Amino acid sequence: MNPFIELGIRHDIVNAISELGFENPTPIQEQSIPVLLTGSNDFVGLAQTGTGKTAAFGLPLLELLDFEENYPQALILCPTRELCLQITNDIKNYAKKMGNVHVVAVYGGASISDQLRQIKRGVQIVVATPGRMLDIINRKAIDFTKVKFVVLDEADEMLNMGFQEDIDSILSTTPEDKKTWLFSATMPTEVRRIAKKYMNEPFELTMGEKNTGNVNIEHEYYIVRARDKYAAFKRIVDFNPDIFGIVFCRTKIETQDIAEALIKDGYNADSLHGDLSQQQRDKVMKRYRDRNLQLLIATDVAARGIDVNDVTHVINYSLPDEIENYTHRSGRTARAGKTGVSISIINAKELGKIRQIERGLGKRFVKVEIPTGFDVCEKQLFSIVHKVHSVEVNEQQIEQYLPRIMEEFKDMSKEEFIKRFASIEFNSFLDYYKNAPDLNAPIEEGRRFERDGERAPREGGNAGGGGKSEYTRLFINLGSVDEFNRGDLLGYICNQTKISGRTVGKIDVKGVYSFFEVQHSDVEKVTAGFKDADFKGRPVRIEISGEGTSESRSGGGGGYPRREGGYAGNRERSGGERREGGYNGGNRERNGSAGGGGFRDFSGKRREDRPERRRRF
Ligand code: AMP
Repeated sequence: MNPFIELGIRHDIVNAISELGFENPTPIQEQSIPVLLTGSNDFVGLAQTGTGKTAAFGLPLLELLDFEENYPQALILCPTRELCLQITNDIKNYAKKMGNVHVVAVYGGASISDQLRQIKRGVQIVVATPGRMLDIINRKAIDFTKVKFVVLDEADEMLNMGFQEDIDSILSTTPEDKKTWLFSATMPTEVRRIAKKYMNEPFELTMGEKNTGNVNIEHEYYIVRARDKYAAFKRIVDFNPDIFGIVFCRTKIETQDIAEALIKDGYNADSLHGDLSQQQRDKVMKRYRDRNLQLLIATDVAARGIDVNDVTHVINYSLPDEIENYTHRSGRTARAGKTGVSISIINAKELGKIRQIERGLGKRFVKVEIPTGFDVCEKQLFSIVHKVHSVEVNEQQIEQYLPRIMEEFKDMSKEEFIKRFASIEFNSFLDYYKNAPDLNAPIEEGRRFERDGERAPREGGNAGGGGKSEYTRLFINLGSVDEFNRGDLLGYICNQTKISGRTVGKIDVKGVYSFFEVQHSDVEKVTAGFKDADFKGRPVRIEISGEGTSESRSGGGGGYPRREGGYAGNRERSGGERREGGYNGGNRERNGSAGGGGFRDFSGKRREDRPERRRRF
């Protein structure tokens, strides 16, 4: 017998959910459906998102309500419009084979008159976000006096979002003897308090341990220098060619900045945050849901309740402040029994926070090294190879072209053909990643700062010091006419000489030449690095010009000379990671808005030559 029938769900509903692919109940469905079907209990379910809780309460509701009557009998409150639409849609799908089931979604940011009209026509199940619900109640446009069941979904989120008072007001319009079912991913004291306030000896169900996120999620973290964060992030993405991910930022501005930079860099990304209109948000979500978008860059609030299947990675570009938020973020992946990875990109000083989250979740996080350029290239190459294996061939369509194709390749051996074919995409990665630097932050350094409470050199500068310059000023016969800005020039120097960008002092870009400062100990390396170098066919000339001016790193001086204006390329750019350090230690992985005018590759290529990342799903 179908296990849902055994749980007490009737045939027409089981038939509908079978079509959705529900063969076996999830653990929460298995345990809650029999309890909820009695209709006689208040209920508290501590369950992560993605565990199947919509059906856990939705199926019993469909069993318990009287669909011959057309008045509101169940009210489901949830924190976001997204979730509201999702639940409405899910319940409609479960009820597809039943007659006269009317479910209405009530949420802000959309026409209230449409919603009012639907309510007027007759509805048994109202799924709502609290603000708009209250608005409609205040207009006296709905009658909740015969409501039998209230579901508070993602109760912790609703409280986080400040809906406590709205919920109080809404519930005061429902009968005393209704049953309340509360679902929450976490159980902070506020949720306990509302459970106590609204419920009478509720049946409590805890799926898994408190706060222990989903067991199918692997938690990983990467330690990078703040200024390398964006480059590291891109490398992680490149290392996962089939990524379908949600990237979490802490602020709207950061979200926007990262999305813009990614788009400029040729990635298939877009942002989701509160400053977008509802229409814009819907559009982005539709693209993501339809898999026309590979990376969704979102704030916590905007991404709450998103239920998209098969999200492979959640990336914490910035760590959240609360463990609860980490649980919510990571819960966007590994839904419905799938597996997923939750990645955090941190600087060494944030290790303590990772440990804190580990303790909170009771799970060990794995430290992973940022892949090398070589690793990325290899991964990309085999991704191409696998695609060849799995591509669906449209025999009919391709047939007509085959003779011409065969003719084209008739003189090419199979081996040669395969090599060339694989190289089409691979070359651009090879090109891009050759000489890519190690982006892993030296952890000892971070630890030391962490322990000593010192600030990292970039931020705090080097107390003491002062006095004589550590720098030699060098002349180079390249300048703005060669389309260099300070950031570009720094990258070029580091790339050419393999000295660290951290050690380069002031850079002064003129028209046909420039000056830059390097530590005395690096002068030889620099001159050797440029020996026989040419730029677009022109020999590059380096000359010692004198002693540098970047000596006074003494306390209060504002730290590393670069910050003082060494590579103002950074600061000329807008926002986000770019502000942190658009330049990333002399490699070529800068974001697209570097100093305006696109990124110039050191071979003279433009940034636009970057490999095309638009995912074709
Ligand atoms: P939820 O926690 O309700 O947001 O559900 C997460 C995802 O799991 C949704 O995409 C559901 O369609 C799916 N799902 C729920 N129950 C089952 C089930 N019994 N079998 C397969 N998929 C399910």
